[in-house]
Amino acid sequence: MVGILVHGGAGTITGEARRQLSADGCDTAAREGYELLKSGASAVEAVKKAVEIMENLPQFNAGYGSVITEDQTVEMDAMLVDGATGSLGGVMGVSRIKNPILLCDTIRKESKHILFAGQGAEKFAEKHGYELINPEELITDRVRERYHNWIKRRENDSVDPEGRDKYGTVGAVAIDNQGRLAAATSTGGTLGKVVGRIGDTPLFGAGTYADQEIAVSATGVGEYIIQGMVGIEIGYRAKQTDLYSAVKEVLDVTNERFGPLGVIVINAAGELAFHKTTKDLAYSFMNESGIGNFLDNE
Ligand code: ASP
Repeated sequence: MVGILVHGGAGTITGEARRQLSADGCDTAAREGYELLKSGASAVEAVKKAVEIMENLPQFNAGYGSVITEDQTVEMDAMLVDGATGSLGGVMGVSRIKNPILLCDTIRKESKHILFAGQGAEKFAEKHGYELINPEELITDRVRERYHNWIKRRENDSVDPEGRDKYGTVGAVAIDNQGRLAAATSTGGTLGKVVGRIGDTPLFGAGTYADQEIAVSATGVGEYIIQGMVGIEIGYRAKQTDLYSAVKEVLDVTNERFGPLGVIVINAAGELAFHKTTKDLAYSFMNESGIGNFLDNE
């Protein structure tokens, strides 16, 4: 039984229009990923496609639409994992790549290394035929506006990391017709982050994790997710208890010790789980029982 679950970030999604936009983007990605799985594609191909689609949509904080650093630059992180073989690729702090998730796949397939950062990642990309773009092309007017609001709030000393807006990191987990699992996550990070900051997304076992039994993609403040080792913890717990309890326990502990977050998870039995300790988590899923998204549960 094939299936895919995608997310478009955790936090607070303000306004009906934004909620709908997030849901629509998640639905499109889930549907495309599902079509691929139905046609016999691997889980890793499906999650890559779903994330690529969301990287191209301005409503999400990944690729085009990425949030900016305090110096108004773009620094994106991403990771793609094939749970069946354990092969993975990740990038950190890249600025000139249109679709970081595609570069993760090239690293996964072509390199003896797993993680590349900044200029080195871009050099690798260029060698492998990627066009290096002007990072300004990735910044939307809305992101500039959010940045200026953030500056104002910072001046008034009212930046509240707990009550933050959803930035819209994207992720996907899937199972294919051979029972193989995969996970992918891509992000511009957190709005106003200090240049050089790396989040949980490209860290295997933190924001992105997959093996033969489980695939996980997390979203929320990366520092909390890294401190909670969320991906690997869910993997361990899921061996001891049912999937949903495993997810809930890890999120509760991480929330209590560090702060709120959201995750999507799939296991080798094709069971899906999504959970959040933030106000919202944008997600959509599609499997043989149909399609659903976070708006259906409101
Ligand atoms: N986890 C991402 C990061 O910290 C941000 C997010 O999910 O909104 O880079």
